Amino acid sequence: MHAEIHAETLTLDTHVDIPWPEMIDPRGVTGRNVDFARMKAGGLKAVVFIAYTPQGPRTPEDHAEAGARAEAMLRHIRDTAHGEGRRIVTRVAELEAAHAEGATSVLLAVENGNAMGHDLSRLALWRGLGAIYLTLTHDGHNDLADAARPRRDRPEPATLHGGLSALGRRAVEEMNRLGMLVDVSHASKASMMQAVEASRAPIVATHACCAALRAHPRNLDDEQLDALRNSDGLIQITAVPAFLRDPGPGGNSTATVDDIADHVDHAVRRIGIAHVGLSSDFDGGGGVTGWMHAGETGALTEALHRRGYDREAIGLLWAGNFLRVWRRAERVAAEGF
Ligand SMILES: [Zn+2]
Repeated sequence: MHAEIHAETLTLDTHVDIPWPEMIDPRGVTGRNVDFARMKAGGLKAVVFIAYTPQGPRTPEDHAEAGARAEAMLRHIRDTAHGEGRRIVTRVAELEAAHAEGATSVLLAVENGNAMGHDLSRLALWRGLGAIYLTLTHDGHNDLADAARPRRDRPEPATLHGGLSALGRRAVEEMNRLGMLVDVSHASKASMMQAVEASRAPIVATHACCAALRAHPRNLDDEQLDALRNSDGLIQITAVPAFLRDPGPGGNSTATVDDIADHVDHAVRRIGIAHVGLSSDFDGGGGVTGWMHAGETGALTEALHRRGYDREAIGLLWAGNFLRVWRRAERVAAEGF
């Protein structure tokens, strides 16, 4: 039964990193957690590949370097997406059409607003290359917003702006204008709550888990979940073991697909199924027992089905809710309010 549901569901993984600068072509045999052969084998119909830039010292030189890297990564994702039965998708209607026609969809996004520097026109450039969202920060504060975690390579104060900066607010406004989603994964609680207030379109956490089940700075607490629901936004529960479970005696967390289902259950009970979805963070730290790569995507559907999620609920979790939120962002951009 779950196999049939899985086969028919539009499965969308909203956050998958790509190896860089190695440029390993996803059309070949790769060793990546997500490549096109593994997507096909696992019934994963759509993926958001990420142009990620590490947080640097917030200098003009660093911004220029991050900007160049993000653009090169987006172009690389585009250049290696084409082929039999695949298409690049930049709008809701295109994703729905691709799914209806049995095509595999490749979507793009940028992770870390530092790649924008202080140049808001970069957002339109990325949108033109197909990016559907920007993750405001990574680990470490940038000039747009405070992050939930400081940089790993140097000490930082707990906050730099007290949430979103003036530049960050202008970036949110520009994303609303362009129909780009605002991703608050990695952002501090203040940044996230202020982004919800500032944005005219719903906000998404594309890869995060629930702090009520696992106290981790990258996870969202119940107040944050409520804020997402109130703005018609979304949390995409992700497959990072350290976000899912407390570490064991060795200091490492291990997790399974059932831990993902636990976090889904919590979020659904708290804010309703319309505001919950799924992502892997594969090739960026994601991977749990049972779902270690895209070829095993069916195991998550099976775990959710075992929990009592039916065909309709599974469809909402895998893509239906994300499409609703994305469509609202498109409408905000089209209507200009
Ligand atoms: Zn991330």
